[in-house]
Amino acid sequence: DPRIAKISSSIRVIPDFPKPGIMFQDITTLLLDTEAFKDTINMFVERYEGKDISVVAGVEARGFIFGPPIALAIGAKFVPMRKPKKLPGKVISEEYSLEYGTDKIEMHVGAVEPGERAIIIDDLIATGGTLAAAIRLLERVGVKIVECACVIELPELKGKDKLGETPLFVLVSSA
Ligand code: IMP
Repeated sequence: DPRIAKISSSIRVIPDFPKPGIMFQDITTLLLDTEAFKDTINMFVERYEGKDISVVAGVEARGFIFGPPIALAIGAKFVPMRKPKKLPGKVISEEYSLEYGTDKIEMHVGAVEPGERAIIIDDLIATGGTLAAAIRLLERVGVKIVECACVIELPELKGKDKLGETPLFVLVSSA
């Protein structure tokens, strides 16, 4: 798809952010490129429309940028999966491990119903720990995860292997 090259070149790489040695993939430059942003959303919409998906779950923070326009276009609801202590209502949460320590993601109780079909969206998959936790959280409440979708994959980190049976769809692979 010729759109991929433009999307890929609109993503800026910032070395040594947030720590030395990290090559940070910065999607804010993709958002400034009106064609690349529109193509990104359209490529996800083309893949998921008509697939009986009623939930687009977006992972904080950059899943909140890409998720809502996709949800609106395919006629699904948008469910934010948030960092701890942000959601005001009753929450269900799932822990996952980081390089040092653990983190959590949370979702409102009642946001989804058992039997619903969801996609989970984030800007980037690195080790896969975040998406794996999002999958576990939604599966605990009886939701079927059709696929995880990311703009960028860092394939060397083999995050896909953490997702088990759940398929992963990415637009751009980054070295
Ligand atoms: P994982 O859990 O190791 O797969 O890390 C993925 C999470 O970290 C996602 O929520 C990403 O937004 C964030 N992340 C990790 N590296 C980058 C990066 O280079 N650019 C943007 N986000 C990143």
